[in-house]
Amino acid sequence: MKAMVLFSGGVDSTTCLGIAVNKYGAENVVALSISYGQKHQKEIECANKIAEYYGVEHLYLDLAKIFQYSDCSLLMHSDKEIPEEAYSEQIKKTNGTPVSTYVPFRNGLFLSSAASIALSKECDVIYYGAHSDDAAGSAYPDCSDAFNNAINEAIYVGSGNQLKVEAPFINLTKAEVVKIGLDLKVPYEYTWSCYEGEDKPCGKCGTCIDRAMAFELNGVKDPAMELYKA
Ligand SMILES: [Zn+2]
Repeated sequence: MKAMVLFSGGVDSTTCLGIAVNKYGAENVVALSISYGQKHQKEIECANKIAEYYGVEHLYLDLAKIFQYSDCSLLMHSDKEIPEEAYSEQIKKTNGTPVSTYVPFRNGLFLSSAASIALSKECDVIYYGAHSDDAAGSAYPDCSDAFNNAINEAIYVGSGNQLKVEAPFINLTKAEVVKIGLDLKVPYEYTWSCYEGEDKPCGKCGTCIDRAMAFELNGVKDPAMELYKA
């Protein structure tokens, strides 16, 4: 069995990578990092470091062009500000529509692209790190259980029953994801979550706030923040 992991260099996908390496062995895991035209390359740099740490094959794909018509605040060509508040606050104002950092159908596009590459690389399964906090209030509808079931079905059928999609955290919170990763000794010190590409995480954007909370709920200090403090 061989696994492909959609791998951004953040907490969730790095935990996915840890699970896949633990289950299949590093030699049977391919990490795929996809650039979507985000404002910074920081997460790709971090992804490189982590792939090297695990000793897995690491592929890179640039899909930035597909998002050229979007004004999502995460994209380089957008002049929209990235909101400085928790998702739980943001979704109170969105009336069930996605948050402003939702990149249009990103996971759908990423998983379809990954499916094509995974078949060429003889993988049997694709892992990705969607979890229930991101799906809450439809902040990111392409992280939901319903989306995951539908895309899994589409990829399984469309690949001639050769390829499945695994979202091991689909019903878990980010804190529960971190708990699994801490047990697996995932190198969180190398991960990057912040939407801003400064030298240090901003501590104010939705994903920085979520990340801090996830470590706090596990009663541990975020090893990356400890590293940046030093
Ligand atoms: Zn941030």
